Amino acid sequence: MKYVIGETIIEASDSWSGPNGYRFVYAKDHPNAPKSNQMYEHIVVMEKKLGRFLSNEEVVHHIDGDRSNNHPNNLMVYKDNAVHCFNHYRKIALDSCGNADYVKCWICKEWDTPSNNMISCRGYAHRICSNEYRNKWAKEKRRRLNGSSWN
Ligand SMILES: [Zn+2]
Ligand SMILES: [Zn+2]
Repeated sequence: MKYVIGETIIEASDSWSGPNGYRFVYAKDHPNAPKSNQMYEHIVVMEKKLGRFLSNEEVVHHIDGDRSNNHPNNLMVYKDNAVHCFNHYRKIALDSCGNADYVKCWICKEWDTPSNNMISCRGYAHRICSNEYRNKWAKEKRRRLNGSSWN
C-alpha cells in the first residue's frame, strides 16, 4: 500500500488488527517510524489526507468511536491530547446526561453544571461532596493513628 504524503511516498504493508483494537502497518520509510517500523494505520491515513506529517503533539481521533475504522472520513486530528480528552469528555457527558457542558462529580457520581458549586483539582467534585470526603478521611486517618481507639 502506497501512501503519498505531500512530496513523500511511504511504502507500507497491509494493515492488521492489534490486541488494543487499533490497526497497524509496517512503514519502514516513514520518518517517524519507530525501530520496529510498526505504526498506527490511522496516523498514515490521516497524514495522507492532510498531505503532511503529523507533529508529536497531534492526536488522531476516530469519530464513530470504532478504533478499527480508519476510513479517512472517520478520522479527525486534534492539536494535542488535552483537546482530544476534553472532547471525549464532552461526548461522554452528552451520552450520560444529555448535556455536553456538564461535568461529573467523582464523589457522588452526579453530572452537574461546572459552575461555582464545582471544584476541580482531582477531577470535578461538588464543594459539599469534597468537604464531606475530606472530613471523612481526616477522621479515618485520626482513627488509624490512634490504633484501636474509636473517636
Ligand atoms: Zn478520540
Ligand atoms: Zn457530588
